[in-house]
Amino acid sequence: MAIVLVALGSNRCHGRHGRPAGVVRAAARALAGLGPVLRVSPIFATAPIGPGSRRYANAVAALDWPGSLPDLLARLKGIEREFGRRTGQRWGDRVLDLDILAAGAAVVRLPDLIVPHPRLAERRFVLDPLVTVAPDWRHPIMGRTARQLHTRALRPKARPRA
Ligand code: ATP
Ligand code: CA
Ligand code: CA
Repeated sequence: MAIVLVALGSNRCHGRHGRPAGVVRAAARALAGLGPVLRVSPIFATAPIGPGSRRYANAVAALDWPGSLPDLLARLKGIEREFGRRTGQRWGDRVLDLDILAAGAAVVRLPDLIVPHPRLAERRFVLDPLVTVAPDWRHPIMGRTARQLHTRALRPKARPRA
């Protein structure tokens, strides 16, 4: 593997790292324990999706990871646990969420790992930071760059005429 794009999210406070933005900053430092972190986006604040209730802090990091993607996912889950994440409801409130967004042109479809992340292209909270870190990364299935996906997500949705 080479450069992996990792999404970082938090919407709960942490005893030591404080508010979600502080959790995301600390998690980016933890990623550096896995390999060189080449870039980190600014941190964006976003409204919650799903059953969660608190605002999120979101960012994207570019990590130089020499190993396999399943091994990286296991390491990311280890960092989530170190930050006190408990397994619980999907999309629920959580102190730290680390997702593998993409790894160059790699396409992975395993029972517990899908790359590129299947919901990446429809999420502003992913595309906003992603475009600051890797605007020219091209989605290997959709054939569009991060910049193009971002522009598309900014466009107002067509509404049926009354
Ligand atoms: P979403 O996937 O919609 O962002 P989530 O991050 O809240 O939701 P989790 O509960 O954190 O979902 O993860 C559920 C499972 O998704 C994980 O246990 C993991 O095995 C699987 N998974 C599949 N593809 C990926 C990926 N690209 N990155 C991280 N986890 C993934
Ligand atoms: Ca997620
Ligand atoms: Ca996740």
